[in-house]
Amino acid sequence: MKNFGFNIHKSLALDLDNIDRSLFLKLADLEPDIYKCIGCGSCTSSCTAGSFTTLSFRQIILFIERGDSNKSIEMAKKCMLCGKCTLICPRCINTRNILRTLININTTVK
Ligand code: SF4
Ligand code: SF4
Repeated sequence: MKNFGFNIHKSLALDLDNIDRSLFLKLADLEPDIYKCIGCGSCTSSCTAGSFTTLSFRQIILFIERGDSNKSIEMAKKCMLCGKCTLICPRCINTRNILRTLININTTVK
């Protein structure tokens, strides 16, 4: 194939019928507030640990919704549970509690 100087990435479209949503459903069962997230990113922009790591609560939710359980849990482990994101969230979501629950699910369900 001719080299045009760029690559075509494979489609990022989600096949919602074929992704593993078990973690999302389990977490939503325990923390129904995650349905209220509008993805505004205020939590991420205010995150204390986000200044030093790749931690992003907004991205954690996206990973879980997309079935990327391992990525979401690995990212959640970087949280130091300071609770700043909870104070900032315009939807009054207890983000800190969601992170705690997510880490607990990971340690109790193997
Ligand atoms: S601040 Fe709240 S609504 Fe906005 S992305 Fe974070 S959790 Fe979702
Ligand atoms: S509780 Fe975790 S995700 Fe929220 S601001 Fe603090 S370090 Fe960031």
